[in-house]
Amino acid sequence: MLDLAPGWANEFHGHHCPFMPIGYRMGRLAMRTLGVEREPDHGMFAFPEIGVGHPQTCMVDGIQIATGCTYGKLLLEKTGAGKLAVTLFKPGKGAVRVAMKPEFMDGMARFEFFKYRKAGKEPSEIPAAVTNEVVDWMVGQTDDALFIIQPKPDFTYQPVKGSFNKARCVKCGEYVFERYVRLVDGQPHCVPCAGHGR
Ligand SMILES: [Zn+2]
Ligand SMILES: [Zn+2]
Repeated sequence: MLDLAPGWANEFHGHHCPFMPIGYRMGRLAMRTLGVEREPDHGMFAFPEIGVGHPQTCMVDGIQIATGCTYGKLLLEKTGAGKLAVTLFKPGKGAVRVAMKPEFMDGMARFEFFKYRKAGKEPSEIPAAVTNEVVDWMVGQTDDALFIIQPKPDFTYQPVKGSFNKARCVKCGEYVFERYVRLVDGQPHCVPCAGHGR
């Protein structure tokens, strides 16, 4: 099955690159494995294992686009392991981890695109033909060539329960939501005004 990111994906992501569409494929594969659809609301969770300071993190935009597990809906939490993998979890359907095969990453490294990247060029500054070369090659590879799939039967995750309750901070006058209200001398404060950590 060919999992090509929709047209709006590049617009949302900002540039054309290989790792956003790889993340899209990753998300689609995880969804197919679990037998689930794209999440419209708040019922599915993605845990990408990326860290910071490595440039393949574009992957996570593709994962969000495919699965609907977005940062803004609080359906996405990075583990910070510094690896190119994601676990997708839907209560009642289970969890699956999809990881990139080292052999695939090694095979991709030979493309000119990465010479530009290592020389400090941003993806939007790289000639389209150079980007297309590596993206087209990736698209032509099977899921089996790209990914390892691991069922995670013991995986659990308990999302924080939402609440609309809020209070006005007596110091700055701004609203602060329930979980973050701190009482100082019995008066509601936001965390920054209370002057301590979370
Ligand atoms: Zn990108
Ligand atoms: Zn305040």
